[in-house]
Amino acid sequence: MDLGLANRTAVVTGGSSGIGLATTRLLLAEGSRVAICGRDPARLEAARASLHASLNVGPDRLLCIRCDVLDRSMTRSFASAVSEWAGGALDILINNAGEGRVSTFQQTDDDGWRHELNLKFFSQINPITEFKPLLDMSDAAAVVAVNSLLAVQPEPHMVCTSAARAGVQNLLKSLATEFAPAIRVNSVLLGLIDSDQWARRFERRSDKAKNFAQWIEGVAQKKGIPLGRLGQADEVARTLVFLASPAASYITGASVEVSGGVSRHM
Ligand code: NDP
Repeated sequence: MDLGLANRTAVVTGGSSGIGLATTRLLLAEGSRVAICGRDPARLEAARASLHASLNVGPDRLLCIRCDVLDRSMTRSFASAVSEWAGGALDILINNAGEGRVSTFQQTDDDGWRHELNLKFFSQINPITEFKPLLDMSDAAAVVAVNSLLAVQPEPHMVCTSAARAGVQNLLKSLATEFAPAIRVNSVLLGLIDSDQWARRFERRSDKAKNFAQWIEGVAQKKGIPLGRLGQADEVARTLVFLASPAASYITGASVEVSGGVSRHM
């Protein structure tokens, strides 16, 4: 199947690591040019070097910009840089930047709530607002948001992340209607995906006797994931890239679960 991604222009927020990096790699392999952002310049440079080494892409196909998507003026500058670099329309915006917060209601103070609600909402609102004029110029514009199964299946130990993610799904549904037919808006609801986030949680684990593979296998067992393992970033990337592509032209307002079957709802 031809996804229709040759010579398209895409932005991937948080493209310097994990799911964002895997998605950038796949979009480049499909013939798109991609602009990525992240906060840490060293991480961005490592991503640029790795993509250059594996796919031989240069600055004409890959733009790496330091940007915190929670900072509106930085996001505006990122959009200006993409506009100049692309010289025209933006076809794809993948809102992936972010991280989860582990805390129960008792453990979450007001600042924790404000931080999490700000992160989850404005990591969508800022890029969508600043890139919309460029998306409006495309004949096949698509926004795909990376969200979590927590939006529909909350976990008490991630209480504010779960609540914020539910609100984000609601926002995306409204945008899919408001932006139609010009811009499609979809999302993925992730279960547990093996990425740097889990590497960081491994470093903070209480059971120091296990290595990463043993620890992550234990996480999958404890969570009762029917497919018996955590997902891989590539497996999420394939779903994101399909939803973003012109091949998904009749899909908007949808959410696709990439969770190894761990959802319990119908
Ligand atoms: P990683 O930590 O590997 O990647 C996160 C990326 O986002 C990095 O490139 C990071 O770069 C960037 N980032 C984080 N905050 C910002 C910010 N404010 N502005 C710009 N860039 C930012 O994690 P994953 O690949 O696992 O996560 C990708 C997305 O998937 C996240 O939104 C996460 O919440 C979500 N998710 C992941 C799950 C999982 O199990 N892995 C489950 C559910 C959802 P830098 O730090 O340099 O800014």
